[in-house]
Amino acid sequence: MERGADARVTVHETLAARVLIGPGACDLVADEIARLGERRVLLVATPSAGTAAGRIADALGSRLAARFDRPAPHTPVAVTARAMAVAEDASADCVVAIGGGSAIGLAKAVSARTGMPQVAVPTTYAGSEMTPVLGETEDGVKTTRRDPALAPGMIVYDPVLTLSMPSGLTLTSAMNALAHAVEALWAPDATLVTDALATEAVAGILDALPEVLDDPSGLPGRGRLQSAAWLAGVCLAQTRMGLHHQLAHVLGGAFDLPHAELHTMLLAHVMAFNLPWAPEASARLNRAAGPDPVAAVAGLARRHKGPTRLSALQVPRDRLREVAERVVAAPYPNPRPPDVDAVTELLDAMW
Ligand code: NAD
Repeated sequence: MERGADARVTVHETLAARVLIGPGACDLVADEIARLGERRVLLVATPSAGTAAGRIADALGSRLAARFDRPAPHTPVAVTARAMAVAEDASADCVVAIGGGSAIGLAKAVSARTGMPQVAVPTTYAGSEMTPVLGETEDGVKTTRRDPALAPGMIVYDPVLTLSMPSGLTLTSAMNALAHAVEALWAPDATLVTDALATEAVAGILDALPEVLDDPSGLPGRGRLQSAAWLAGVCLAQTRMGLHHQLAHVLGGAFDLPHAELHTMLLAHVMAFNLPWAPEASARLNRAAGPDPVAAVAGLARRHKGPTRLSALQVPRDRLREVAERVVAAPYPNPRPPDVDAVTELLDAMW
């Protein structure tokens, strides 16, 4: 998304992707590959998706060139090198990823090096399958690139694959998706399209998530939650994220903290911080979440059985100011310009 040469003109660009969504969609992957005309598939899967990956492998039959079952978080280049060697040995010319963002990131990394078309079958709500973004790590340093060619051309959402998510992962992963939608609402490059998608995503997640937490094996709720997360993923792809994502990145990088749990912890605090500076986002959140969106999100975060405070993650209180200084030194676009005192106070409240 960008501004046109005339500042009053918005430019909205949509990535080309074919999306299949619904119970049983996973069983159509082999037919979709046949449709692509691709014959030799590298199947990347996380162990959590082993059973479904086995079904896809069986359905692919002779189109299956090789499997790679060890993706890792944050796409380490050493893991990608191993997957590349497997793909080359098997002469693969297409990559299918089934699993969370780690599996999908690895497929993006393989595709970036080979030009192979990708099919993503997400089993969490992280949203990577919708984005043209790849973050890779080498020697502890993460670099991120953005290129439309990195986005999978086909995405297969099957809510049945999400039934196995434990409730902790369900909650934190859905809060991660919710954060994409909320930040899209106050993004400087928000458009009518992203506003509409983000509002619908927030309403969908807040509606479906409590139902799914109460009844994790209920397929209709799982389906609604996955649909809302899809929209949130589009928001992540099309807008620039703000203070919430910056804090998640800076804190996560500095103290090696779990990404989705951080999102869960941060979101209500950052909403309370930003919303007085973001009246249009506030109005949309009121429509989607009722009169007190901060309380609605905080209430969901409190259902987390894992750590809900920075202190519980062993973040030293005396280093919060340093985090705030790093944020303020090169801030992501945010409706409320962050200053060191205010961000330290925000972090202290989370501590
Ligand atoms: P993940 O893929 O690492 O999965 C987390 C854990 O959940 C793993 O142990 C996995 O095996 C398990 N799991 C996944 N699906 C499951 C299911 N249905 N049932 C039971 N267990 C399941 O984590 P994630 O949160 O999905 O993704 C995080 C990764 O994705 C990070 O590396 C992050 O940087 C990346 N990411 C990238 C983008 C992007 O746009 N490039 C966007 C979001 C996330």
